Amino acid sequence: MTDFDAVVIGAGNAGLTAATTLQRGGLRTLLVERHSVPGGCGTSFRRGRFEFEVALHQLSGVGAEGQERRTLRGLFGKLGVLGKIDFVQEDDLYRAVVPGCYDVTIPADWDQAVEALEFAFPGNRENLKRFFGLVREVTFWKTAAMRGIPAGKIDQVFFRNALRTLQDVLDEHFGDARIKHALSAYWFYLGQPPSKLSFQDMAATLFAYLEFKPWHVKGGSQAMSSALFESYAEAGGTALLNTAVDRITTGGGAVTGVRLSDGQEFSTRDVVSNAALPLTYDLLDGKTPAAVRADLATRRVGVSAFVLHMGLAAPPAELGFTTSTSFIGADLDNDRAHATMRTLEPARTICVSSYDVTPIGFAPPGSTHASLMTLQYAKPWETVPPAQYASTKFAYAETLLDRIEVLVPDVRAAIEEVDVATPVTLERYLGHPGGAIYGYAQDRTEGWVFRDDEHGSAVPGLHVAGSWSGLGGFQPTFEAGARVANRMLRENAARVRN
Ligand SMILES: Cc1cc2nc3c(=O)[nH]c(=O)nc-3n(C[C@H](O)[C@H](O)[C@H](O)COP(=O)(O)OP(=O)(O)OC[C@H]3O[C@@H](n4cnc5c(N)ncnc54)[C@H](O)[C@@H]3O)c2cc1C
Repeated sequence: MTDFDAVVIGAGNAGLTAATTLQRGGLRTLLVERHSVPGGCGTSFRRGRFEFEVALHQLSGVGAEGQERRTLRGLFGKLGVLGKIDFVQEDDLYRAVVPGCYDVTIPADWDQAVEALEFAFPGNRENLKRFFGLVREVTFWKTAAMRGIPAGKIDQVFFRNALRTLQDVLDEHFGDARIKHALSAYWFYLGQPPSKLSFQDMAATLFAYLEFKPWHVKGGSQAMSSALFESYAEAGGTALLNTAVDRITTGGGAVTGVRLSDGQEFSTRDVVSNAALPLTYDLLDGKTPAAVRADLATRRVGVSAFVLHMGLAAPPAELGFTTSTSFIGADLDNDRAHATMRTLEPARTICVSSYDVTPIGFAPPGSTHASLMTLQYAKPWETVPPAQYASTKFAYAETLLDRIEVLVPDVRAAIEEVDVATPVTLERYLGHPGGAIYGYAQDRTEGWVFRDDEHGSAVPGLHVAGSWSGLGGFQPTFEAGARVANRMLRENAARVRN
């Protein structure tokens, strides 16, 4: 008999849902996390009177009460954490602004979104209806395809549109560059500009937010991480924090156990790794199968982020925040914005999150917690000499403050607390290569259509789940951990039966 039925490496979103699913499913599970708190990206930290959210700008796929089927609400219910999490719904998808060009707030409702966009860009109602119709259809058939429905039963609409770029589909539906820009703001959550992003990924993202609404969480993403961790412990799971897995041991090519940073060794037949894929295979100590090595060699590390966390000494309405989420662009050129992310030139597009339009409890009454984020690749930051690092990051932060002035003119005067994370910070805390926040780059040449992201049974007993083996983001990683664990439970049940 092995020490544990399963070991989970890492308590990020996918690690937490995997461990909780396995333990509640009856497998004796060990969860090992190298940090002192569970959550990975899903955490927060304190500065003065404020708690700062690290990663959650908008949670997708939650759904309202009654929408438990195939939503995070349903998943969290199954994992026993629904009563422990207080979701806060956002009324709007976002406000999108290009100063001097357009300013539109898109409600989180299919019909109202059409009307708001029609009001801002008249003459597009029918095209908007067609576009959102396509979003729904492609998402429906993508979900069916991913669930293994045979290709012959999938509607042609999926094959015709899924792998087109988002830009291509927008160009087919709209003539006005402003509406195309306003509709594509969520490319920030996928890391690729509309000219590179597959339509199916954007369709699924828009669907997740429009159908199931965008949400914040009281207590931030750490509240979800802690609730899952508690549920795991309540089910009898064993957890070790402040401990890393140093080695996945194998015998005859299959997993036999793990060795920890404190020298302990445990035998197990199954390991779920929530660590970044390249780090996971490093733990195998040179025993990575050639096919996996070849696959990893062709991957590109995705984009990281630069985040300016702020505690502002005034309430959101007084400052000028009208929505929880806003995207502000310098102009309509998304490709230029993306190219700039490989340089230290001023940020051209920012995502603004105001966590007190509907308060999540991170700022004292009468004040506001807001974060400004732009995407950035790690490379330019890795070459900044240490002596110039602090001045470089604060100078770059000023460029984000310049952008938000169109919404919050006196932002600088209101700052009480501030902290900055660069790709180097994210690399150090998350341990992800390049500080990548969504794992590998996911343009339309990548993804589940072309690769076995979860690596099947390349190494018997090794399972991977998280942003490096599928789409990044909260919803996809929560779902991935549960999906992998449920597959393991089914395999285990079959093994016991036979
Ligand atoms: C700044 C920022 C903004 C973001 N904004 C959004 C957003 O608005 N909406 C959204 O949906 N997503 C957003 N994301 C992305 C989202 O947070 C991530 O994709 C997701 O949280 C990743 O989850 P994961 O399961 O892959 O685990 P991770 O969060 O990557 O956690 C992996 C865990 O494994 C641990 N680990 C690694 N190696 C070992 C080892 N050897 N031993 C033990 N433990 C180990 C790590 O310490 C870590 O805790 C954002 C991310 C960041 C950083």
